[in-house]
Amino acid sequence: MPEPNFAVELAPPDIEPYRTGNTGVDYVTTFESGIAGPHVLITALTHGNEICGAIALDRLFRAGLRPRQGKLSLAFDNVAAYRSFDPRIPTASRYVDEDFNRLWSPATLDGPRQSVELTRARGLRPIVDAADFLLDIHSMQYATAPLMLSGTLPRSVTLARRVGIPELIMCDAGHAAGPRMRDYGGFGDPGSAKTALLIESGQHWERRAAEIATDVMLRFLMALGTMTRDDAERLAGPSFDAHPRQRVIQVTEAVTIAGDKFEFVQDFRGLEVLSPKGTLIGRDDGREIRTPYDECVLIMPSRRLAKGQTAVRLGRYVE
Ligand SMILES: [Zn+2]
Repeated sequence: MPEPNFAVELAPPDIEPYRTGNTGVDYVTTFESGIAGPHVLITALTHGNEICGAIALDRLFRAGLRPRQGKLSLAFDNVAAYRSFDPRIPTASRYVDEDFNRLWSPATLDGPRQSVELTRARGLRPIVDAADFLLDIHSMQYATAPLMLSGTLPRSVTLARRVGIPELIMCDAGHAAGPRMRDYGGFGDPGSAKTALLIESGQHWERRAAEIATDVMLRFLMALGTMTRDDAERLAGPSFDAHPRQRVIQVTEAVTIAGDKFEFVQDFRGLEVLSPKGTLIGRDDGREIRTPYDECVLIMPSRRLAKGQTAVRLGRYVE
């Protein structure tokens, strides 16, 4: 599939100053307030080409902000992939060996398989285990509205509403190819209090994605009492004071590619609402993929159309 022509408006920040950190794990820093409160973890570069999160964390570090209560950990995840970022081929640095965000089951993490991403995930695992709250910052292939991915648990949707931006909250169970960090351990356990959100901040390299990533991060930290409004205002961007009426998209299924050749019938970008039920979306080795109901929302159609991967997720507005 041809590359859409996106201008690379964002410059990858130098994260070498954050390599040593203070946790014994490279590129992870934990600030302690000395006052009781939750341990909040913000992660960037889960995908190495999604640089808006690195920009948001770099801004937070540079501002010298510290938690008012509890602990705040800041982590750059797939640094090996990020190091290969090249603005001339900006899609190439998503990962080195495999998708870091499909490895988060104990079976995989404890298993015998080796890869650059597994080594990094195993190194980060104690940090993720220790956190009470996680915000994982991502961006998308197409320039659609930002999406908060809350997972399926009600407490995550509640937190997404307390954060208050962006407008769209998507409840989804992830991918057949493997669990995401945001679904790992207590974050995906109905009986735990641990809560995770994943923000898709916009198109990978648009300036706006870094603003959304920063504002969502600040509102997340305010919602949890880690920062005050006065702290956060110093870094605030155009969405910081926004109070949209938030809408919730319930994802009903992921279309996982079964064959060797998958193609969409149109150049879908995401958030299209298709009616009626039975509208043709694509073909998987010739097998027709059709919408299962009226007003079906297409979410994040992928351009990486490989067997076993998610081609697109399908959902509907429930609020
Ligand atoms: Zn991502």
